[in-house]
Amino acid sequence: MEHFDVMEKYGHEQIVFCSNKESGLRAIIAIHDTTLGPAIGGTRMWNYKDVNEALEDVLRLSRGMTYKASIAGLNFGGGNAVIIGDSETAKTELLFRTFGKFIQGLSGRYITAEDVGTTVKDMEYVLMETEHVTGISKALGGSGDPAPVSAYGVYVGIKACAKAKWGSDSLEGKKIVVQGAGQVSRYLCEHLDNEGAVIYISDLVESKINRMLDSVKAEVISPEQVYSMEADIFAPCALGAVINDKTIPKFRFDIIAGSANNQLADEDKHGKKLLEKGILYAPDYVINAGGLINVSNELNGYRQDRALKQADGIYDTLTKVIEISNEQKIPTNLASNKIAEERLKKIGGIRKIYSGK
Ligand code: NAD
Repeated sequence: MEHFDVMEKYGHEQIVFCSNKESGLRAIIAIHDTTLGPAIGGTRMWNYKDVNEALEDVLRLSRGMTYKASIAGLNFGGGNAVIIGDSETAKTELLFRTFGKFIQGLSGRYITAEDVGTTVKDMEYVLMETEHVTGISKALGGSGDPAPVSAYGVYVGIKACAKAKWGSDSLEGKKIVVQGAGQVSRYLCEHLDNEGAVIYISDLVESKINRMLDSVKAEVISPEQVYSMEADIFAPCALGAVINDKTIPKFRFDIIAGSANNQLADEDKHGKKLLEKGILYAPDYVINAGGLINVSNELNGYRQDRALKQADGIYDTLTKVIEISNEQKIPTNLASNKIAEERLKKIGGIRKIYSGK
């Protein structure tokens, strides 16, 4: 499809191609929708095979951010950026400062943060050229690691699912398979352990598991065992696309709720399949919004207690998503899209009143 047709189909407002010979920067910034406020979303650095692949990714990611910010009740729109290049070898101060200049040129219409392939340090170079950046270290007045707030949001989200499924949100004695023992998982498992859940943990990296076992009681399972375990809850906290044609037939879970982005390999098909199988799925962008809540708080003078309070709202949001899914007999991922779109429509209406249009 031609670029303008794609923008029109999915409602993107603006795409900025950034190129600079001296630094080697080749980046794309996509602003999807600024109805609710300036577009916010991370910068991904990846060795894309060509510009089309990078463009496709940034268009998809930026649109996802509009939905995530909307349903989280934030006054931000959706945007994202991609830098084409190898994050292991191609990073320089000049590259990120040049990228910062391009962001500054958007005068606050887009606010960036770290994402796959970029780090707090990279964002600190961006900060040297623009104030429109979040995810900065605490030492420089930022919010630091978002994982504690992300994990807390996932924890309350799991509780909301439990309440809807079993009538009680207690996780005591519930068997929970957690995929990935990384940053979010580590804090999540502490909450689950404190509540007396029975945790089964898996990671590809042994040191991650060992670090987890220092503070949490859990049984270690192999990455291959994850999908076919018989358990109450599956919490994907590693990769995307883990809910797919191959894994769904193996599932013997009542609930799937975890932090990973893009869990459904195919949004339309696999959300429906989970509904048919009677598995309650917490839409990823609803339950993992704690990370976005955390960085967005940075813009108003960061306070973790305020970010955690906001992340608490994920419980009620998910409850509403599940109610709509039950009432309208639609997959939860479609129910959450509806809520996000409705808020955009309503607030868009108010904005028109204020601007006299
Ligand atoms: P992380 O890199 O710290 O942890 C991911 C872990 O998953 C790693 O330890 C990795 O070894 C492990 N892993 C990879 N493949 C695996 C497999 N097949 N089986 C088992 N383990 C495997 O990442 P994170 O920051 O904890 O984020 C986890 C997920 O949550 C990601 O999908 C991320 O996009 C999403 N997310 C994170 C945040 C945040 O605040 N960090 C916010 C929103 C969403």
